Amino acid sequence: MNKINVIQGDITKIPAEAIVNAANSSLFGGGGVDGAIHRAGGSLILDECREIRNRQGNCNTGCAVITGAGNLPAKYVIHAVGPHWRGGKHQEAELLKSAYLSCFKLISEYQITSVSFPNISTGIYHFPKQLAAEISLATIIDSLGENDTIETVNLVCYEKENQDIYSLLINNGLAKG
Ligand code: ADP
Repeated sequence: MNKINVIQGDITKIPAEAIVNAANSSLFGGGGVDGAIHRAGGSLILDECREIRNRQGNCNTGCAVITGAGNLPAKYVIHAVGPHWRGGKHQEAELLKSAYLSCFKLISEYQITSVSFPNISTGIYHFPKQLAAEISLATIIDSLGENDTIETVNLVCYEKENQDIYSLLINNGLAKG
């Protein structure tokens, strides 16, 4: 638990070796945190996303790809595609978990020591915030147990509501798998 920090703020301004982006399948950028990351990081990130797209096509929901971080205070951006909330019966929970697991696969592969996550899917994709926080926290805690290199995980909440949800979960030990 001592590796996890809950922070309220703009993920593009917080130094970390890797910054996770809540991307969409096209990898072409969008609104929300995706727009902020591409604006602050500059065109290099989009160029790399375009190369990846040319190579492998769309990044499927639940999957992630990695690029450099351009002008961001980071070395890498991990572009993870979370699910659209469509009522809860379309494997949204599994797909959100898979998005976080896909990030940790890359974190292990690239031996990343610090990472910042936004609240994937809880903005434009409308995933319920409480459920998203329970899934992400449980998945992150499990993944930390299996990863030797990561030292710091920042849960960066743009909205205070998400910060409060995480803080309560951590304080009450309520994260569930
Ligand atoms: P999604 O399409 O996955 O829902 P969004 O970018 O719309 O992605 O929202 C994901 C989360 O990122 C939301 O909680 C939103 O408030 C948050 N967010 C938006 N801008 C930033 C930012 N600059 N830094 C950190 N989080 C952000």
